[in-house]
Amino acid sequence: MAFILPMPSKLSHIGVLTSGGDSPGMNAAVRAVVRTCAYHNVGCFGVYQGYQGLIDNNLEPMNARSVKDIINKGGTILKSARCLEFRTPEGRKIAHDNLKKNNIDGLVVIGGDGSFTGAMIFQKEFSFPVIGIPGTIDNDIQGTRFTLGYDTALNTVIDAIDKIRDTASSHNRLFFVEVMGRDAGHIALNAGIGAGAEEILIPEEDMGLERLLESLKRSEKSGKSSSIVVVAEGDKTGKNVFEIASYIENNLPYYEVRVSVLGHMQRGGSPSCFDRVLASRMGVFAVESLLDGNSNKMVGIIDENITLTPLEDAIKGKSKINNNLIRVSDILSI
Ligand code: ADP
Repeated sequence: MAFILPMPSKLSHIGVLTSGGDSPGMNAAVRAVVRTCAYHNVGCFGVYQGYQGLIDNNLEPMNARSVKDIINKGGTILKSARCLEFRTPEGRKIAHDNLKKNNIDGLVVIGGDGSFTGAMIFQKEFSFPVIGIPGTIDNDIQGTRFTLGYDTALNTVIDAIDKIRDTASSHNRLFFVEVMGRDAGHIALNAGIGAGAEEILIPEEDMGLERLLESLKRSEKSGKSSSIVVVAEGDKTGKNVFEIASYIENNLPYYEVRVSVLGHMQRGGSPSCFDRVLASRMGVFAVESLLDGNSNKMVGIIDENITLTPLEDAIKGKSKINNNLIRVSDILSI
């Protein structure tokens, strides 16, 4: 391997924290941040429990060896938290005082849009250099094609649905499988296609219960003895998965209807190779961006390139569903 010379830096220490909902790949990103700091001879602090750790001064120095054996681990060794105090100017002032006290002059925040909103406000108030890394299974952040943990979550979901399919097809069962995604249907749509679901209900598209019923009736007539419908938590019908299932059961007695809510298992597990590589690339880029004098930006991946997007744009709206996928799903569920 060729060695690239470490960058001369004006920063003394960089802090890294994980915040909001955890996702697989966060540990790989922490490892990359810590080791890139070590490589460039910049001190590094791991901050525990997200912004709460800044307020409680719950942080410790980390070196290259502190992050051994974590690239393959789900969750986050730094722990994550939702911190109400950081939403107040007083809380953020304490956080800033603690950063100064520890000689930390740059921060890498690994989290979702809520964490980035906090980072942006903090950065503006104190002109404090902050770079974000998108860590969320929902893949709903603008300025990146993929967020950390999304690929792993997709694989977890299709693995679960494959198992459900085994039991569904052993009986004449129609399974409704609820997956995560209150505001975004990326997991439902992609895992639904990947697992061969009959129908996919997502927050971005209003299929309507009648159309769902008609579609399932058609499938039954065409000889399908069992089926799987994937439902994102926030689908547009306005009904929860149990209500949808019971409506269909009442109107389509041929099938035995069952519901499976996958829940928090979707956030766990060892990160996929894709997420590990993405986390590694993003972690290196986050530190080097800070050392380059960047701030208030999020690292993302667009067309295979690691990029920077202003935090403001990253949180502006949800990333869009690919409508072509909806068509693919419709065609293949014939
Ligand atoms: P995620 O980052 O996964 O979207 P949250 O929305 O829970 O998760 O946000 C994580 C944390 O970011 C919150 O607990 C809070 O400490 C901080 N945060 C979110 N929104 C704001 C805000 N408007 N002002 C200050 N801090 C915020």
